[in-house]
Amino acid sequence: MHSLNDTPIFLEFLKRFFKFVKIEFRNRYIQNKLFIYSKCNCKDKGCATVYLKSRTPWKESVQGIYIFDTNKGMFIIHVEENGFLEFEALLYEQYPYKKEIDTFLKYEKAIHDSFPRQKKSIKSLTKKNKQMLHKYFRNLEHKHMNTIDLGEV
Ligand SMILES: [Zn+2]
Repeated sequence: MHSLNDTPIFLEFLKRFFKFVKIEFRNRYIQNKLFIYSKCNCKDKGCATVYLKSRTPWKESVQGIYIFDTNKGMFIIHVEENGFLEFEALLYEQYPYKKEIDTFLKYEKAIHDSFPRQKKSIKSLTKKNKQMLHKYFRNLEHKHMNTIDLGEV
């Protein structure tokens, strides 16, 4: 597994995304809790799914599936008993971290089951990366389900 400190764009994306959907972690430093396991290897351009794993198993009360439909992609988060957290990001071709994750995991192909040592340093975000994240989150909105009108029954 890999430290989120190695993928600063994705780390920042997760932090902001969890805030946006109001998922809170007790530990402010999610990179000490969550690690990159692997990613989805389908060739779908609109998919930027990443498999994460927590150092400790998830409490039963938080396990489950959480769905967030937004104007910039659909997210399905599976919180599994064994510590896995599947971060499914679908139907959007410009997830700001996709390229970073693809490139990073291309060179770190082997899946190691052990947790990496904690790294203190985070690779810093370039100005361009910050702008890219800003652009994504600036007008990110939840999509509301359309009411379906079946007419008079
Ligand atoms: Zn996929």
